[in-house]
Amino acid sequence: MRRKLAAGNWKMNGLSAQLAEVEALCAAHPDPKVDLLIAPPATLISSMVVTASDHPLAVAGQDCHAQESGAHTGDISAAMLKDAGASHVILGHSERREDHDESDDDVRGKARAALAAGLKVVICIGESLEEREAANTLDIIAGQLAGSLPDVLTGENTVIAYEPIWAIGTGKVPTLGQIGDVHDFIRTKLEGRFGEGVGRSIRLLYGGSVKPSNASDIFAVSNVDGALVGGASLKASDFSGIIKAL
Ligand code: 13P
Repeated sequence: MRRKLAAGNWKMNGLSAQLAEVEALCAAHPDPKVDLLIAPPATLISSMVVTASDHPLAVAGQDCHAQESGAHTGDISAAMLKDAGASHVILGHSERREDHDESDDDVRGKARAALAAGLKVVICIGESLEEREAANTLDIIAGQLAGSLPDVLTGENTVIAYEPIWAIGTGKVPTLGQIGDVHDFIRTKLEGRFGEGVGRSIRLLYGGSVKPSNASDIFAVSNVDGALVGGASLKASDFSGIIKAL
């Protein structure tokens, strides 16, 4: 049985004062029945780890470099994230793929580095509106899965987030049928490549305009094991509403 996961991606949002939201969230869910994860900006990782030190809330980076160390000004290695107290890293978010031209190969290299450093990975995939309208969604998803996932992974160390790009921050959400079709397709692909045991154990998150008001419908869809939440993870009250729906 896959344990549900509510993951928040703060993106480039949050100064120290924002940690009050994490305090409130931990207080509202002292003994959560689902796994909780927040990816703050790198500047807040260490302090968020301290804020949540008495709580099972896990902390993630939002990206890492594929190399262990070296002359890469501005980048962060997987070991650095781990050293700061992160247990996970989000990789291949569409905003990184777009803003930093990250390819599937890049994402796979980063995932290898992160797993080697002992981090768990949340690998993001998803189609653009053009690709959806051209009925290419499943081909795009298949290509991203084939290219972005390393050959060796487990349900313990890997989570996949399906985030249709056109649903991110737009208030537009696919139909429940569309979400189910993609999640079932991902599950079948994972079972085919990694075997039934591993394929069935990997958690699949939906991301894109998840709110307290639509969360329970989305979480009822087959093969949806939780959510990767952007905007609504910034306020404890909103994120809490999503957690309660799981
Ligand atoms: P929103 O929840 O703001 O649409 O963002 C989703 C997302 O990109 C999470 O990684």
